[in-house]
Amino acid sequence: MKMTLQPKLGGEVSRFGLGCMRLPTVDGKPDHEEGVRMIRYAIDHGVNYVDTAYMYLGGESEIIVGKALKDGYRERTALATKLPVGMCHDASDFKRIFEDQMNKLQVDYLDNYLLHGLNRNSWKNICLKYDVLSFMEKLKAQGKIRNICFSFHDDLDAFKEIIDAYPFDYAQIQLNYMDVKHQAGLEGLAYAREKGTRTLIMEPLRGGALANVPDEIGSILKNGEGGYSPVEWAFRFLIDRPEVDIVLSGSSSMEQLQDTIRIFSSAEAGCMTDSQRETLAKVKAAYEARTAIGCTGCRYCMPCPQGVNIPGIFSTWNSASIFGNFDNGRRQYERMVSRGEGQDNCVGCGACEAACPQQLSIIENLKTAAEQLS
Ligand code: SF4
Ligand code: SF4
Repeated sequence: MKMTLQPKLGGEVSRFGLGCMRLPTVDGKPDHEEGVRMIRYAIDHGVNYVDTAYMYLGGESEIIVGKALKDGYRERTALATKLPVGMCHDASDFKRIFEDQMNKLQVDYLDNYLLHGLNRNSWKNICLKYDVLSFMEKLKAQGKIRNICFSFHDDLDAFKEIIDAYPFDYAQIQLNYMDVKHQAGLEGLAYAREKGTRTLIMEPLRGGALANVPDEIGSILKNGEGGYSPVEWAFRFLIDRPEVDIVLSGSSSMEQLQDTIRIFSSAEAGCMTDSQRETLAKVKAAYEARTAIGCTGCRYCMPCPQGVNIPGIFSTWNSASIFGNFDNGRRQYERMVSRGEGQDNCVGCGACEAACPQQLSIIENLKTAAEQLS
């Protein structure tokens, strides 16, 4: 496992950080036993950054991580979780949720504590309004957290505003070869490092889209220098950049985890050649020509008060567009409509658009999707 020196985390940390939002499930419920096995496998194979959050896996991710970190595993791991600021209505919620998290995780302290999924609104209306930074500083002074951090979904200006407002230890941003100019993007990444804030990367595979590529994309990647798998290309794009400190990825099976560990054990900063960068530029152009909408499936827009399955419709629309298979897409959309999840139920209230970290014009795009899928 290739490592990176992270003084704020006490030394060498693996460049692959295990995200615990997509651990395996059985019958729709998190499989605790397999989750613990995977987390311990990762740690035993050199991964020493483990990331979870209050809301992951319906609230069970922190419990699974807590179980996995028993028997000496906590001492070998930098542990991160996140305060769901969007669920906080006043300052008392910060304390209540933090205590709940520590009980679930069964640990004495956190290495990184992140304000979860900040955007311009939550920064102003919750973090600044209820002075969350004083709360975080108090936790730090008490030794309950080591670093004050945030994760982010909004535009570059909002990112700079937040970075400029406080000397955060780490910023967690969405980045992959498709999103270089999206949200914080590469400019935000460089800006954070200039300000002394270290970087954690999420969505390296863009919600799995960069792993399951259509034939046209697959053949560009296969013919590129190295002939890597789509997943390896996506990880190498990030590993190549020295300004990227840690790349988070969530594995939903042991096989995926083993493959990720293999990639992060063989590639390091500066691993890409000019010809490989050109290959990814070609892939990006080919994708951009095919994708209907840049929905990552994060579900921040859900639940829709009218029952519209927004990410489901966009995912079906994107799959149909990318794979050129609208017959299948129409059948899937028909089933959604029959369950009352179709666009026909949308009343245009706008609640989803206010919550969407990608700032998508959801209402208009739902109409277009419905037209093409009907
Ligand atoms: S605008 Fe439509 S899809 Fe969005 S939350 Fe309102 S009803 Fe649901
Ligand atoms: S529409 Fe926006 S909020 Fe909803 S799943 Fe897609 S990216 Fe996330």
